[in-house]
Amino acid sequence: MALPSHCQRCQQPQSAERLAYRKGAEFVRHEALLQCDLCERFACSDCLAIHDIVSGYDFLCHECARTFEAPPP
Ligand SMILES: [Zn+2]
Ligand SMILES: [Zn+2]
Repeated sequence: MALPSHCQRCQQPQSAERLAYRKGAEFVRHEALLQCDLCERFACSDCLAIHDIVSGYDFLCHECARTFEAPPP
């Protein structure tokens, strides 16, 4: 199965800057779009967040990441 060339969330084509994923203060670069661990859509760095939830990296789109954030007070 070929990897998608466009972000499945915002539909933008992948490009070098959209493949630099922010992980805290660092950037993690990938050759291709990363897949959300929950909804399994491939997403660009604008739409995908990297979290240390269990161990190592977890890739979650911003929608799914919200379910792991503390609810607002
Ligand atoms: Zn996107
Ligand atoms: Zn998701």
